[in-house]
Amino acid sequence: MDSSADTIAAVATAPGRAALAIVRMSGSRSLAIASRLVAPWPDAPRRTRLARVSDEGGVAIDEGLLTYYEAPASFTGEDLVEFTCHGGPLAPGLIVATLVAAGARPAEPGEFTRRAVLNGKLDLIQAEAVGDLADAMSRASLRVALAQLDGGLSRRINALRDRIIEVEALAAYDIDFPEEDDGPVAPERILSAARDVIAQINALATTAPAGELIREGACVVIAGAPNVGKSSLFNAMLGRQRAIVTEIPGTTRDALEAVTEAGGWPIRLVDTAGLRESTDPVEKLGIEVSRSYLGRADMVLACGDSAESLAHVAAAVAMLCNAPVVRVRTKADLLTPADRSNVTDAVSVSAESGEGLADVAGAVACTLSSMRGMLQLDAPMVTRERHRYALRAARGEIAEFVEVWEARRAPSVVAAVHLREATRILEELVGSVDVEDVLSKLFSTFCVGK
Ligand code: GDP
Repeated sequence: MDSSADTIAAVATAPGRAALAIVRMSGSRSLAIASRLVAPWPDAPRRTRLARVSDEGGVAIDEGLLTYYEAPASFTGEDLVEFTCHGGPLAPGLIVATLVAAGARPAEPGEFTRRAVLNGKLDLIQAEAVGDLADAMSRASLRVALAQLDGGLSRRINALRDRIIEVEALAAYDIDFPEEDDGPVAPERILSAARDVIAQINALATTAPAGELIREGACVVIAGAPNVGKSSLFNAMLGRQRAIVTEIPGTTRDALEAVTEAGGWPIRLVDTAGLRESTDPVEKLGIEVSRSYLGRADMVLACGDSAESLAHVAAAVAMLCNAPVVRVRTKADLLTPADRSNVTDAVSVSAESGEGLADVAGAVACTLSSMRGMLQLDAPMVTRERHRYALRAARGEIAEFVEVWEARRAPSVVAAVHLREATRILEELVGSVDVEDVLSKLFSTFCVGK
């Protein structure tokens, strides 16, 4: 189906009871359709007007604010209408149904953003950022996504692509002067320019471990024997954010997971206390922790309310997974000053008094930074496996070029093929070529109306 020719409509806001909702319509017929159903019509594009929507029979459906945009000056690059209507279960859906009856069709997930990409309003990396903004669960991921939408990462990648083309241009002199021993550009200069691009790719790639963790949130699993205070610690670390705790959907129902932050790092804190399956072999080790979560843990908080229980859980966790472990001595309010001075290998915390909570967060942040690199939210970051693989592949091609060029193993024109390929990989990464399958994969994760 040539879907891009259609005019599409959807509710852009989440369903449910709400004061307001937004209905969007994009495509060449959107102004004609909307102006038939909405009155009064705004005087000019981008001017909001209080207006009433009626169905084709003239029966009023709702009243709200209408703004229209003329192609190409809109989010999608097409004629676009946005109607801010009343929220709730009925009005937004009725408006979309009316628009569809008048000639629009319901939009697929992510279709507005897809059109923005196809019309050159956003590149692929920016489109990913649109998705990340809607999914962001932490201030850090929001900030990184916003910078990405602003084009920070795309600019870095485009600059790398330009540098590779420069190297290719230098190498082309050599191709044009094959009969000379040395072309007009010293081979060393070409090599050092290529190596410089590799160094720049490496520098960008070093942001991937932190960037991917920021986007996904670090999985921090709380483990310990029953009653050592795991759930209390979970709640205390979440503080007022407790409200967003959700039981993990799915079959296992073996953990509570909630998103919070530690020293700026977004973390998904996991508490499995009381929810384990009694048949789980982990239970034989006398600790409560979900095996499935341990397998995915970026780090573990091993909790104990005595030196013995702490040593026990730390040993058990070490047997079960390779993730770094922070030892946490719980119920610190019950420690005597003498006991306290004996706790040297663990962070002491009291869920009761709040003492030590900042130290636990600090220890988590410190562990994550030492694993993934420092948090540098203002510089462009690589946030997806897709980005990382593309950078690695482009770097591999340039390294091949360097090798072939240096050894003079093949004619210059053959060596330069690797540079061409590296350029193509980066173009695909930003979305200037071959984007269709990546688009389909990306937008299948979007919601309708985005
Ligand atoms: P879990 O089974 O490991 O999740 O442990 P809970 O969080 O349910 O706590 C077990 C018991 O220890 C409860 O009676 C809590 O009130 C108590 N407890 C938990 N944390 C603290 C603490 O920091 N100080 C004190 N004094 N008691 C605590």
